[in-house]
Amino acid sequence: MIFHFRCIECGSEYPEDPKRLVCDSCSAQQEPGGPTRGVLQVENQELPAAWPPTSPSSAEFLGAFLPIPSPELLPPLVVGGTPLLESPRLRSALGLPHLSVKDDTRNPSGSTKDRASLLVVAKAREYGFDTAATASTGNAAAALAAVGAAAGIRSVVFVPESAPEAKLVQLLCYGAVVLPVEGSYDDAFELCLAACDAFGWYNRSTALNPFTIEGKKTAALEIAAAMAPDVPDAVLVPTGDGAILAGVWKGFSDLVRAGLIKREPRLIAVQPEGSAAIARAFSEGAETITPVPEAASVADSLTVQAPRNAILCLKRIRESGGGAVAVSDESILEAIPYLARHTGVFAEPAGAAALAGLHVALAEGLVGREERVVLLVTGTGLKDVPAASRTVERAAPVRPELNAVAERLGV
Ligand SMILES: [Zn+2]
Repeated sequence: MIFHFRCIECGSEYPEDPKRLVCDSCSAQQEPGGPTRGVLQVENQELPAAWPPTSPSSAEFLGAFLPIPSPELLPPLVVGGTPLLESPRLRSALGLPHLSVKDDTRNPSGSTKDRASLLVVAKAREYGFDTAATASTGNAAAALAAVGAAAGIRSVVFVPESAPEAKLVQLLCYGAVVLPVEGSYDDAFELCLAACDAFGWYNRSTALNPFTIEGKKTAALEIAAAMAPDVPDAVLVPTGDGAILAGVWKGFSDLVRAGLIKREPRLIAVQPEGSAAIARAFSEGAETITPVPEAASVADSLTVQAPRNAILCLKRIRESGGGAVAVSDESILEAIPYLARHTGVFAEPAGAAALAGLHVALAEGLVGREERVVLLVTGTGLKDVPAASRTVERAAPVRPELNAVAERLGV
């Protein structure tokens, strides 16, 4: 599998190298706490001329699309292959007859991030690293810990001290070395970078390791494979750092290059109003973001002061002809039970944000009711039960008598 890296800012090309994370000249302009400069993308990889005749989560399928020399490097864990649900009740309730839900809650650790970790851990194995590290608000760390556990690669994770309890417990059960960092996600990111340099670990941090974006492209491959020969018109992508959207774009772009689909869908980033650096930059026509120092949202997975992958994300939104919307925390919370009750998919706030964003996108004319629209639901509600519990009311106990049931339910 021959490929090279290409800088998304200046176009410089670099050969594959285990130590290569970013472009030399663009990273020299890196500002502390700003978006990552000189993000690299995998280019020129040989792609299959036809859809592999196997499931998208199979080693054969993944080996055909991912930049690895052998499918045997893939960790022994089923990642991806999640369903694209037609969700008739949601279609009918919203009046969108061609709406679909990509249920990525069904990944091993419960989020889309498993897709990135699958490829990153395969590359760590190929390059001979015994430890991989990441900074994460929780989901990327859980993904690395899960996939690393399956493959026998030690995981070290730097998490902000505010990460939800359920996410930390999950990491610890997978056997990861967990280092809660006093401060924000951005502080955790910088510390992880320094530790990888100092201790010779493989850095999985999103928007720094080029294979995180490349790995996330499998979500797009699956959507396209499920919908072929049709192509979605628009995909709504919950957006924090911007790496999932960039990965989804890469997947559709690869498929166009391979001749397997005719065009790319419009990509619409959905951000919480309290952490909307990318949405704001998009509406201002800016190529990069202004950090939001007090970023805060119920969707912890989307809360970031300075989205690390903002430059590439903004570029990809525009190239796709898409857009960016900001949604309130209230609308995110409302979307959790609404999605669950109409589809059977229980999402964490970040995942439910896709549905909240759909309402705004419809109101702003970014998507049409007759279009093929896909909601990428990125993480399971079991990740953040306290957030979901704010949206429901629990009934008081009833006497263990049929009468009491009848009385309570009015039947
Ligand atoms: Zn560059």
